[in-house]
Amino acid sequence: MREIGHFVGGKSVKGTSGRWGEVFDPNTGEVQARVAMAKHAEVEHAVAVAEAAQPAWASTNPQRRARVLFRFLELVQNEHDSLAALLSSEHGKIHADARGDIQRGLEVVEFACGIPHLLKGEFSDSAGPGIDLYSLRQPLGVVAGITPFNFPAMIPMWKFAPAIACGNAFILKPSERAPSVPLRLAELMGEAGLPPGILNVVNGDKEAVDTLLTDPRVRAIGFVGSSAIAEYIYSTGCANGKRVQCFGGAKNHMIVMPDADMDQAVDALVGAGYGSAGERCMAISVAVPVGEKTADRLLEKLVPRVEALKIGPSSDKQADYGPMVTKSHLDKVRDYVDLGVREGAKLVVDGRGFRLQGYENGFFLGGCLFDAVEPHMRIYKEEIFGPVLSVVRARDYEEALRLPSEHEYGNGVAIFTRDGDAARDFVNRVNVGMVGVNFAIPVPLAYHTFGGWKRSGFGDLNQHGPDAVRFYTKTKTVTSRWPSGTKAGTEFVIPTMR
Ligand code: NAD
Repeated sequence: MREIGHFVGGKSVKGTSGRWGEVFDPNTGEVQARVAMAKHAEVEHAVAVAEAAQPAWASTNPQRRARVLFRFLELVQNEHDSLAALLSSEHGKIHADARGDIQRGLEVVEFACGIPHLLKGEFSDSAGPGIDLYSLRQPLGVVAGITPFNFPAMIPMWKFAPAIACGNAFILKPSERAPSVPLRLAELMGEAGLPPGILNVVNGDKEAVDTLLTDPRVRAIGFVGSSAIAEYIYSTGCANGKRVQCFGGAKNHMIVMPDADMDQAVDALVGAGYGSAGERCMAISVAVPVGEKTADRLLEKLVPRVEALKIGPSSDKQADYGPMVTKSHLDKVRDYVDLGVREGAKLVVDGRGFRLQGYENGFFLGGCLFDAVEPHMRIYKEEIFGPVLSVVRARDYEEALRLPSEHEYGNGVAIFTRDGDAARDFVNRVNVGMVGVNFAIPVPLAYHTFGGWKRSGFGDLNQHGPDAVRFYTKTKTVTSRWPSGTKAGTEFVIPTMR
């Protein structure tokens, strides 16, 4: 059995804990490798290696740090296809989608290549007699990222690229379900010229995470995953004096107004609801048509599209989506579909019986569509994270606006309409972090920031964009008086620079 270890100090290292996790091929259901679960001492060692390497990296000038990232971009682009195939083989997403996963990560690397500009700081000339005031952004030291299974390339890059560009050393704890791409990315950073110890990958579970959370040498933690773990990491990290940002689960609504272009809305809904088997934090999982007539028109077009979804192995270029990541996740999603039926929602497309010839043991689920879902139902309240879309019929616009606004999650939301007034009102009033207007998956580009509200995000700063630089640096503000000959005299009151 292939064994997957760690990457520490610029090289691959074997796991020594004797504890392993299973890495599946979701297409066949077979275990394709086992991944080492790092023990406390192994994580502590990685932190020590990072801490020793970091000062020299921090004093490497930012343009040189950027050059490493420029080379990394090129190396990843050269391997885009093989990396995507590796990613699909553990995650199950189709090849084109895996390429997109890598591409959206590379865009944040491109952003981080601008680090000399991003770190310029602020300067106030002559704030007082001979006095200049300026601020510097300095790295934190050793920082860590804990990432989920569903974007094995993008989210690690969102974390480590800005952190490293800012002069930090980084410990990545990727998902144990899809560990190979993060390891390969770390190797490529080494090939791009990153000094050993600046990017380390430790595979593992709660033991590894808890070590990072309590080790005082780790100054900041960025997490992406489910909300329960996000909350745990946020509170434990903060209690241990760290800077922490955690991004959690989601229940993203798409409001369909009576005047929406229904073909455009249905196209968007099918892609955003079922792409990547619904295993996206920005997937649309709730459609909210406004008014009974809109709902009927939507369902009329939506049902045949869901029935016609093409589900195939991740290598199938014609497939709309592939298998789910693991059997236990497939079972969980299927249980939610059973639950929805028991709760009284109307299952208008039932994908539970889907079987793929030649891949009978793969983790496949056909597209499921519920109508008549109500806000008190668990299938509405909880994140399902699978190819299951719920239709909640709203009587009017105000009710449609209230649904996402009052939901406990607040990651993404979309409105489809031709009415600029309605769209503008929605953008202003909806209580959700990322909003799309006639755009179903409003994941901001790298130079803006990404982050949800309510139980989708814990902490003050978002991911990537300017917030990433703020998160991975601390500000030092300097008040400096030159020439030294300026006579200040002795002052016993607070300086006011009159
Ligand atoms: P998860 O919470 O199970 O795991 C995320 C990370 O936490 C993994 O590295 C995992 O090893 C670690 N972990 C798991 N249990 C832990 C524990 N008890 N203690 C400490 N660490 C633990 O999430 P997942 O299933 O890998 O990913 C799917 C979830 O991530 C969904 O809820 C999805 O909405 C969310 N997600 C959110 C965003 C966002 O930006 N808001 C983006 C992608 C995914």
